[in-house]
Amino acid sequence: MAAEHVMGQIHRLSQSVVNRIAAGEVVERPASVLRELLDNALDSDAQRIDVTLEQGGIGLVRVVDNGGGIAAEELPLAVAAHATSKLSTADDLERIDTFGFRGEALASIAEVSRMVIRSRRPEDAGGSMLEVDGGEAGEVQPEGCAVGTTVEVHQLFAKVPARRSFLRTASTEWSHASDVFTRAALANPQVAFSLVHGSRRAHDLPAVESWADRIEGIFGRSVGQRLVTVEADDGDLRVSGYIGRPEADMASPRLQHLLVRGRPIRDRSLSHAIQEAYRGTMLTGRHPMVFLRIDL
Ligand code: ADP
Ligand code: MG
Repeated sequence: MAAEHVMGQIHRLSQSVVNRIAAGEVVERPASVLRELLDNALDSDAQRIDVTLEQGGIGLVRVVDNGGGIAAEELPLAVAAHATSKLSTADDLERIDTFGFRGEALASIAEVSRMVIRSRRPEDAGGSMLEVDGGEAGEVQPEGCAVGTTVEVHQLFAKVPARRSFLRTASTEWSHASDVFTRAALANPQVAFSLVHGSRRAHDLPAVESWADRIEGIFGRSVGQRLVTVEADDGDLRVSGYIGRPEADMASPRLQHLLVRGRPIRDRSLSHAIQEAYRGTMLTGRHPMVFLRIDL
């Protein structure tokens, strides 16, 4: 491009370019795709969510839910920018920061991948399918499918070499993605989840009543058996959950999970507070197991 064209007239960016810029915020790696698809599946009131990943999610992220589904005529809207069923008035905007309803996740992801959505609502006789390749949406097609929604994201960043080069090895991407899965499963014990990576079934978690059962389902009996129940309530702040005795220390803080108002969070000052609470009871470089729900 000649230099004089670089600083041309002011013009609006095309929707596609806007989506790609937004994709930079929303989609960093397969794990961020998985987080958005899991959020949508949970928002749809699914009772069961099945996740399949190929190559750590670089080749494929597939999320199947049995939630409320999307009407055939709304499929194109679901992948359009700033289209959401979750807010409509300016007053609702306040909720955006809290829950991330910005109506741009699917549009942004579809811009940098090949996305296939299949969906059917309980009241529909049949389902429908829409494919979006690099932001180019095809036609909605009728398709036989179960009630709920399946979103497949193929070949993330395959046509965006600059972004693709930031992806790490499949095993690193897998570890980020399985972390996202774990956090969602931990926060929603009443929903059944499964996770398959390539030919390996990594998790198969039935819906359970108690948080302890879900923790054990994910991390195994040996972790479950080493936890003790804790509960504190000062009127404004309620903390409850399970913590490990100091003897059950770990080499990493991998088994520290916090839910604030039911949502998984990572917070440096809370992590520090946990480490401080155990100070003097374990060697430096060791970390307690902590599963806490904080409600304000
Ligand atoms: P947001 O979640 O912020 O609304 P998204 O781009 O993630 O934006 O999704 C756009 C819309 O597509 C949602 O508001 C919802 O109506 C619909 N949608 C997406 N995924 C699902 C799903 N798994 N089940 C039902 N509806 C969905
Ligand atoms: Mg969403």
